[in-house]
Amino acid sequence: MRYMDTRALDDSRPAFSRAVVKGIAPGGGLFVPEAIPSFSLDEVLELSGMPYWQRAARVFERFGVDVPEDRIGELMRAAYGTQWDDERIAPVVEVTAGTHVLELWHGPTSAFKDMALQCMPLFFSEAVDAMQSSGEIADDFLILVATSGDTGKAALEGFADRAHTAIVVFYPDGGVSDIQRLQMVTQRGENVGVFGVRGNFDDCQTAVKAAFNDEAFAAELHERHGLRLSSANSINWGRLLPQIAYYVSAYADMVAAGGVKPGSPMDVCVPTGNFGNILGAYYAKRAGVPIGRLLCASNENNVLTDFIATGTYDISGREFVTTPSPSMDILISSNLERLLYHLAGPEAVRGWMAELAANRTFTVDRETFAAVRGLLVADWASNDESLATIDRVYREHGYLMDPHTAVAWEVAERLRGLDPVLVVSTAHWAKFGADVLKALTHTPYGQPLPPEMRDMSGLEMLGLVGTLAPGAAKVPDPLADLSRLSPRFGGVVEAGKHGVEDAVRDWLAG
Ligand SMILES: *Cc1c(COP(=O)(O)O)cnc(C)c1O
Repeated sequence: MRYMDTRALDDSRPAFSRAVVKGIAPGGGLFVPEAIPSFSLDEVLELSGMPYWQRAARVFERFGVDVPEDRIGELMRAAYGTQWDDERIAPVVEVTAGTHVLELWHGPTSAFKDMALQCMPLFFSEAVDAMQSSGEIADDFLILVATSGDTGKAALEGFADRAHTAIVVFYPDGGVSDIQRLQMVTQRGENVGVFGVRGNFDDCQTAVKAAFNDEAFAAELHERHGLRLSSANSINWGRLLPQIAYYVSAYADMVAAGGVKPGSPMDVCVPTGNFGNILGAYYAKRAGVPIGRLLCASNENNVLTDFIATGTYDISGREFVTTPSPSMDILISSNLERLLYHLAGPEAVRGWMAELAANRTFTVDRETFAAVRGLLVADWASNDESLATIDRVYREHGYLMDPHTAVAWEVAERLRGLDPVLVVSTAHWAKFGADVLKALTHTPYGQPLPPEMRDMSGLEMLGLVGTLAPGAAKVPDPLADLSRLSPRFGGVVEAGKHGVEDAVRDWLAG
């Protein structure tokens, strides 16, 4: 299987491994598979008898991953092993008749990014190994990540002690929760580094991008340290393929649990930011999984809701809104480009992406819009609606959700039709304890917590949630244990290219 460039500017047509190491096509396009395999219903259903690692291996094999089958199996066993706190890895839980939840947060960092980032670094490392053995390259890879919280930790945990890789993560100092910071600065591994950046997430991301695009810096890393830069971000195909696997797996589980009749459709409702997770559902549907409608749930940053309603993607007049679901706070949903490629082809995509860059807006043609409408239904939930949903679902069903999942739940309730709905849950509630506390105490999002809670640490808040939501509020061990770990990293650097580059130099000097 070869991979095409969504903008048809790069005709190298890499195989999977090469696409993973390259990350993005040279002209700015994304890699997409040249063909989508198709699973028969029996092939899907038989997954329910297999451990998760084998299900994921099946999907990888069918997507033509250029790694020998037995090796794919070994890597999947490592990716989806005992670091997960539920041996089902991505369990489907029935919360109420007709509504099931796909829990994607049983991994080591308690958020959905683990589904991909426990897997992709293994294939990345394997690919570099193969390229070095064949004499194609001699360098190892340094992954630079700018994070607003969750991705940084999941990437650190995924790349920690992976051969041929090192990873340095930058977060906005003061701009992440104390639990998120603790998760990062206590990260184990010999090949990891973590720095705060003075500034907000935008400053942090701009600084990391500037370091990326600095050719002199790249030359220095190559000559002095034998390293190349990579980013491993969510547009990397290596992060998307694992996200197809859990939808195939979930359908098999839904049928096995009696939630849907074999071959009958289920709708999926996905809390969406960069459009990666929901795109996994699209590919699964194209590959033959009986998925009905893709329900696209947004928070107050609802540019996708508008796009799906009108065919116009417009961020020209949009302000970025702060929400309790920060991992969905995105203006440019990069992975939408892949869907548009499959619906309209590379020439159209090239035009729209150029318009977006120049005018911050584009409008798709009628036919493409009709195709989008045939696949996707969208709605959004406000900040206060999402918090109210957390409280209501806990009271009605005894199930405690995080604010991202709550957005999806709320939208699923509004858009549900006759088919069963799979609500995709992307984070454990404990990752967003302060806002869950607001929800359970009926504090509006825009107001501070009641006085006696304001000065609590993140971990104390989790304890309090435990008493407010008895039975539903067990904190995952890696989060509960944070207070016992000593921070390994404390560096804070100036925003800007030089701050980031000097941090990397210092870190490499050990
Ligand atoms: C990343 C993330 C999302 C958004 O997923 P996309 O693939 O970017 O659409 C939603 N919820 C959580 C908790 C996340 O970490």
